[in-house]
Amino acid sequence: MKVYYDADADLSIIRAKKTAVLGFGSQGHAHARNLRDSGVEVVVGLRPDSSSISKVEAVGFQHAAPEEAVADADVVMLLVPDEAHADLYRRIEPHIRQGAALACAHGFNIHFKLFKPRADLDVIMIAPKGPGHLVRSTYTQNQGVPTLIAVAQDASGSAQPLALSYASAIGGGRAAIIETTFREETETDLFGEQAVLCGGTTALIKAGFDTLVEAGYSPEMAYFECLHELKLIVDLLYEGGVANMHYSISNTAEYGSVTRGERVIDGRVREEMKRILEEIRNGSFAKEYVEEGRSGMKTLMTEREAWKRHPVEQVGEKLRSMMNWISSKPLVDKSRN
Ligand code: NDP
Ligand code: MG
Repeated sequence: MKVYYDADADLSIIRAKKTAVLGFGSQGHAHARNLRDSGVEVVVGLRPDSSSISKVEAVGFQHAAPEEAVADADVVMLLVPDEAHADLYRRIEPHIRQGAALACAHGFNIHFKLFKPRADLDVIMIAPKGPGHLVRSTYTQNQGVPTLIAVAQDASGSAQPLALSYASAIGGGRAAIIETTFREETETDLFGEQAVLCGGTTALIKAGFDTLVEAGYSPEMAYFECLHELKLIVDLLYEGGVANMHYSISNTAEYGSVTRGERVIDGRVREEMKRILEEIRNGSFAKEYVEEGRSGMKTLMTEREAWKRHPVEQVGEKLRSMMNWISSKPLVDKSRN
């Protein structure tokens, strides 16, 4: 596996290219702002009625409709939701310059062939391994989020150094820039978010919280035990791995952890993880998600509402409002990013 750092990247490549960032959401605001702070000329592309226009104007970016924004861009970065890429690409394709580069931050559409980029374009991926709000906040602290790069189509013969240069400009080279393929990024990214990072973790929190509350403990206790403290434990894991976390917790906690953890994440869970991975690899998850997009994200909307009603969210809102340091410098501020 190839790992690069800032010293391996040539920032002048991306600095010499006008970059159109389409979308100003989680990833979009972070890429646009980090690129600009690294000396890259950026135009933001948004639909005319976009809810993001005020956010873009508040930080002083040039913006235009996507068709216009791409017209004089050398690099076109797609940072709208994955389910919108294929339609958006069809609309902008006639306006993209000959020999430009088309970039994305997740290989979903290209790997599953949901649209076919023109043959004269470089097709590259620059995929930070972290939420967009952290791509921005770490950059401003002189840190970075590990970032994957890949090339799907190398029309110019210099797609890889361009991807490396872009990754460095958004701060990835301070942590690690890892060269991969569209296939590997897509499959591992989907698996990670489904089984471990987002799906697995939230289901674990919910199951632990429900178990305590159903046994008669107060929701406040259950919240601190199963959600709040998770961050403190994850901070220790992030800093120094499992040994660092074990060093900090009590022997009682470590003993309970090593003797009980695998009863929770048992053989059945591992079998289910394998099935989840297989659905990703054989394309059936992608097919299901494309259908979900066509349905207007029905399942997603229903599940969002169900989470809002869950007591862990309701009690959490109340308890967090008493810890003012949490909200004083938020990573997510819906009015700005
Ligand atoms: P968001 O949902 O945050 O993107 C929202 C932005 O896209 C808004 O500016 C929105 O403006 C615009 N938008 C939405 N739909 C359309 C459309 N049909 N046409 C034009 N603009 C549209 O996206 P993310 O940042 O979460 O994801 C962007 C890409 O980055 C995806 O490929 C994702 O897989 C990838 N990625 C995301 C990560 C993350 O941290 N979220 C992590 C790594 C990769 P409006 O709707 O107001 O017009
Ligand atoms: Mg992901």
